[in-house]
Amino acid sequence: MSNQRPGRQVETDSAGTPVGEGDLVAPVYFQTCRSCEFCRRGEFYACENDYEHTGNSPEVWPHFHAPWGTHYYIHPNHHFYRLPDALETHRSIAAAANCALSQVMFGIGEVGVEYNETVVIQGAGGLGLNATVVASEYGAETIVVDSVDGRLEQARAFGADHVVDMDEYDSVDARADRVRELTDGTGADVGIEVAGVPAAFVEGIELVRKDGRYLEMGNVRPGYDVGFDPGRLTRKSIDITTAVEYDPRTLADALDFLENTVEDYPCDQLIDAEFPLAEVESVLEASENRDLTRATLVPPGEQPS
Ligand SMILES: [Zn+2]
Repeated sequence: MSNQRPGRQVETDSAGTPVGEGDLVAPVYFQTCRSCEFCRRGEFYACENDYEHTGNSPEVWPHFHAPWGTHYYIHPNHHFYRLPDALETHRSIAAAANCALSQVMFGIGEVGVEYNETVVIQGAGGLGLNATVVASEYGAETIVVDSVDGRLEQARAFGADHVVDMDEYDSVDARADRVRELTDGTGADVGIEVAGVPAAFVEGIELVRKDGRYLEMGNVRPGYDVGFDPGRLTRKSIDITTAVEYDPRTLADALDFLENTVEDYPCDQLIDAEFPLAEVESVLEASENRDLTRATLVPPGEQPS
């Protein structure tokens, strides 16, 4: 591929779009080595060397491995895409496309959401809001489940047709009944777990109809057990799929999707605020204390908006 050549010889992004000095680009946050067993099969999201350079010390060439810095080195095995011109004024939103939006688009592609299907989305955080927009744009009827008032309001602003407040429907049975009520008594065609809580997986099986499909995406850290009744799953004939990382080409689709939808949703709500890079320490501290949820750092020479 053309982007395997170093530095100035790179003339196009990973989609073949011409790039030049000064263009804004978005890289996939992991690499695909193209030589491991999984890359050879085309299963790039399962690359065994995906984080080869992540976390390297700044002492190690080519030095710029971390996202919080004035420079970021895009390795030959990193896919990257030129930002569409329309996104130049939405850089902070575009900067997050390589994570939440790409992940959600890939996952939804894997579970296969079709026009007019009902989709129940568990969790209205960043992944959940992105999933709501994508499923809505694909023509699905969306039901978002969460317990935080502000998040449910946001979910509505991001296209949710229905919201289920976990405080109002305060048991799994109550929520399953409510979802059935909203889906002609059957349960949702598709369930998407983006709450990141093990219990949500168990509950999800109750929210999806017989012969439905379920996407597990929010629980990404091993080591958390939960009681689960496999017989329920079998009896309901539910197909389960998972998604972690994504096919790198999904980022190109995500940027295109964002270009077409960014004005239709209050996407700026996904960003708390922009800060100069010099404030990185206090911003990280505030994020850890949950005083900030989605801060954006702006490099020197550019003004936070
Ligand atoms: Zn690989």
